[in-house]
Amino acid sequence: MTAWYKKNPEFFEKERRELAKASPLMGLSIMRPGFPLNRYTKLETEAVVAHGTHQVAIPNSHSHLEYKIALLTPPNFPDRPPVMFCDDPKLPWRHNPDRHVFGQGQACLAVNAEIQLHWPPGSTLVKFLERLVDPWIVWQAYYDAHDEPPPWGARDHGREGIFDFYREQWGQPLPGAFQTKAFMELLAMKKTPKGHHPCPCGSGKKLRDCHLPLVAEKWSALDRRDVKKDLEIVKVTTE
Ligand SMILES: [Zn+2]
Repeated sequence: MTAWYKKNPEFFEKERRELAKASPLMGLSIMRPGFPLNRYTKLETEAVVAHGTHQVAIPNSHSHLEYKIALLTPPNFPDRPPVMFCDDPKLPWRHNPDRHVFGQGQACLAVNAEIQLHWPPGSTLVKFLERLVDPWIVWQAYYDAHDEPPPWGARDHGREGIFDFYREQWGQPLPGAFQTKAFMELLAMKKTPKGHHPCPCGSGKKLRDCHLPLVAEKWSALDRRDVKKDLEIVKVTTE
C-alpha cells in the first residue's frame, strides 16, 4: 500500500499548514524508523507523525494547558484515525490505570469503535485534536488539579467502558457481559451476520427471528476492525 503522504502530497502539505495554524508548537513530518513516539515506543516503519507540545485553551481564562504528544498517522490515513502517544512527564500514567493510557503510552481517547462517531473517516488532524485530544487533555488536567477524575463523561477504562458503549449501541440493556460479547462478535464478522446465529439478547431464538435488523444496522454503522480491537481488549481483561 502506498502511504497516504506519498499518494497525496498536496493533502499532506495542507494538513501540515492547518496543524501549524491550529497548534503552533506541533509539527507534522515524515519520520524514519527509530523515531521515539515517547520514552517507551519507537517507530518501526517510516510514518508521518504530528509531534510536539499541544496547547489547549482553558475556557474563560487567558491561560492554556500544554502536553507533549505524538499522533502517529496510519498508512491509510485519513480512512483510519491517528493513534495518540503521550510523552509528558506531567502525566503519571505508568502508575495509574484510571488515566486512560495503555502500557506503551498509547492514549485511550475513546472506545475504538466510538472514535469514528467523533471523527468520521476522511477527517483532518486538526479535527482529531479538537474532537478527541482536547477533551482528553482537559480531563487529565482536571485529574491533576483535583487528584481525582472529573465528574463528567469519561467511560471506565478497559472492559467496562467498552461494554457500556456496545450496550448503548444495542439501545436497551443487554443482560450481561456474555451477551454483550456475543453482540460484539457478530459486529466483528467479515460479512453481514446471517440469521442462523443465536441472538445475543439471550432469548434463545435465532437471529433471523429476533434482533437481526438491529444487528445488521450496527454492523454497517461500525467499522469491524475497531470492533475487533475492542474485543481483544475485552478478552485480555476478562477472567
Ligand atoms: Zn434477540
